[in-house]
Amino acid sequence: MSTFQAPKGTYDLLPPNSATYLAVREAISAPLKNSGYGYVETPGFENVELFARGVGESTDIVTKEMYAFETKGGDQLALRPEGTASVLRAALEANLHKAGNLPVKLWYSGSYYRYERPQKGRYRHFSQVGAEAIGAEDPALDAELIILADQAYRSLGLRNFRILLNSLGDKECRPVYRAALQEFLRGLDLDEETLRRAEINPLRVLDDKRADVQKQLTGAPSMPDYLCDACTAYHKEVRELLDAAGVVYEDDAKLVRGLDYYTRTTFEFVHDGLGSQSAVGGGGRYDGLSEMIGGPSLPSVGWALGVDRTVLALEAEGVDLELPATTSVFAVPLGEEARRVLFGKVTELRKAGIATDFSYGGKGLKGAMKNANRSGARFTLVAGERDLADGVVQLKDMESGEQGPVALDAVLETLKAKLG
Ligand code: AMP
Repeated sequence: MSTFQAPKGTYDLLPPNSATYLAVREAISAPLKNSGYGYVETPGFENVELFARGVGESTDIVTKEMYAFETKGGDQLALRPEGTASVLRAALEANLHKAGNLPVKLWYSGSYYRYERPQKGRYRHFSQVGAEAIGAEDPALDAELIILADQAYRSLGLRNFRILLNSLGDKECRPVYRAALQEFLRGLDLDEETLRRAEINPLRVLDDKRADVQKQLTGAPSMPDYLCDACTAYHKEVRELLDAAGVVYEDDAKLVRGLDYYTRTTFEFVHDGLGSQSAVGGGGRYDGLSEMIGGPSLPSVGWALGVDRTVLALEAEGVDLELPATTSVFAVPLGEEARRVLFGKVTELRKAGIATDFSYGGKGLKGAMKNANRSGARFTLVAGERDLADGVVQLKDMESGEQGPVALDAVLETLKAKLG
């Protein structure tokens, strides 16, 4: 193995592509910031217990995919595989839910870790932007989050994504459905592991991707038929609010998702250009999670959108984000005196908010202009001894090729005007 190799299932974000990742994070968080969500940041690891209880002891995430370890001090920790449990833990710890201002609306952005079999769109280290609205049961809140995610994807220029929507019921009707589904699954020709899964978490069998399993599932009891009146009314309201907002979704009675804590509204954003790893984001209501991790009853709803897969979706649709040029002005000094003077100008331009870079390392004009070209700068400033003697620098427009002298003390104003 080469020394210079990122661990399996991981990759580095490097310029220029890394700018796209930043822009995606920005685009996903912008609608949240605009809708009353405050920024939350939690540690990259938590006590393993939080995820075991919160995500679910029987989920793949906890049993197979968690990076769990013991510290030198004997603490059992795990790298976070998802964001919701941590954010809820943080809100409970800080008593945000007691400030009398429910729901507590939070957004986050960060790295998550799952020991998965790597493939395109599935990594061991990936990045999500997420949102949680904690402590309110209100269909408008579920609708709000779906609308904001839709808005985020659209603002990026994505079009070929679909929203899948389902309701998983609540603690009244879900157990009834669960039992009916279990009964049905016991009668199928399934392998041992799947049968075991059917006993622990039958809803997740619906999510099985294998064709022979899916074929047998035709005729399985369907959640919508089992929803209690309260859940039916709640779901109807969510759907009507989405309709009114012009958000298009598809009802998907088999949508369950891989985490145990979801109740009622469940949704997934899938992109049709991504092959098997088509889920770009997902979320739903998790009314029981707070109690599962030892807190009070706090009905909540949230989502997490995957940044890596959103970038892949942009590529699949051929969307090029309009990213602002990283460098607007590139300064090229010819000689010692020019280096001092131009470096001073660079600092002045930067202070004024103009993205400026400098030719370092005492390069000759040819090498320096190559760097200027690569930087993507719209303008270069070149100065040699003769220019300085005349009190000017040469300003070159890299698009038109036009070049002319500008008085040293007029450089800032001139560039400001030209850059708009
Ligand atoms: P989940 O918590 O599994 O619903 O994940 C939410 C979103 O995070 C998914 O829709 C993906 O976009 C992204 N995601 C989850 N796991 C991975 C992974 N292993 N690699 C890349 N993205 C992932």
